[in-house]
Amino acid sequence: MKLIILGAAAGGGFPQWNCACRNCARARAGDAAAQPRTQASLAVSANGADWVLFNASPDLRAQILATPALHPRGGLRDSPIQAVVLTGGDVDFTAGLLNLREGQTFGLYAGQRILDLLDANSIFRVLDAGLVPRRPLATDTATVLRDAAGRELGLTVEAFVVPGKVALYAEDASRPDFGSSAGDTVGLHITDAGGRGFFYIPACATLSDDVARRVRGSALVLFDGTLWLDDEMISLGLSAKTGARMGHISVSGARGTIAGFAELGVARKVFVHINNSNPMIIDDTPERKIAETAGWTVAYDGMEIIL
Ligand SMILES: [Zn+2]
Repeated sequence: MKLIILGAAAGGGFPQWNCACRNCARARAGDAAAQPRTQASLAVSANGADWVLFNASPDLRAQILATPALHPRGGLRDSPIQAVVLTGGDVDFTAGLLNLREGQTFGLYAGQRILDLLDANSIFRVLDAGLVPRRPLATDTATVLRDAAGRELGLTVEAFVVPGKVALYAEDASRPDFGSSAGDTVGLHITDAGGRGFFYIPACATLSDDVARRVRGSALVLFDGTLWLDDEMISLGLSAKTGARMGHISVSGARGTIAGFAELGVARKVFVHINNSNPMIIDDTPERKIAETAGWTVAYDGMEIIL
């Protein structure tokens, strides 16, 4: 199984178009330690020929152009992208679907609530359901991924509920939970026919006992690295929201990801979905050193992993 991290940044990317924070300024200035990153998306293949995208970021067009494995292989119109799986309904997970119009076929997998959100937005009808069949992704059930015609792609996913919240544009401000319900955010366990597997959890609000139990002892986890501190956006003056309010756990702190994973025995730990405000996104910061010393890799665009 081969993984290519198409984009390693959180929503907004790095640098973010309207952000002049210290990190974004360094990236914009071409600082070698501040490598730009596009918004989070992952490509996985079991056989090296058929590829599945996990989330479709607003940067998807550029990500495909930058990734030869995803280029047309022959004929006038062709793509090795045979399926797309969504872990949430956020703009940074779904907007890239609009780049996949032009009459191409693929299977589209997401939880029913997310499929309903897409269906309620008429712009996504550019993906003709006759060419792009919508397939509900049930939680706690193994789903064999297939192309639009039903051919198996050699990958199985099991979606599971993780602590999170409904997409920002779908929030209901009149409700204390903003109208979120279980399944608005899922993690995925992705396995191939040989039994090799890994976890993809790009958004997670807290490391619940259930999530910890699932990932314990696994070979590879790609996990939400959005914020270093829960109040990072507030203290930098970028936003009034905490990480918890945005549905993202912090990397540091007693209840953060590094501490939570310390005793879980995961062989390879990779941070993905890293916000531009997070100091660990920069190569030469003390926070990057802390993450790496704790056994984590901070993902970058184009990073390849063979399992
Ligand atoms: Zn910034």
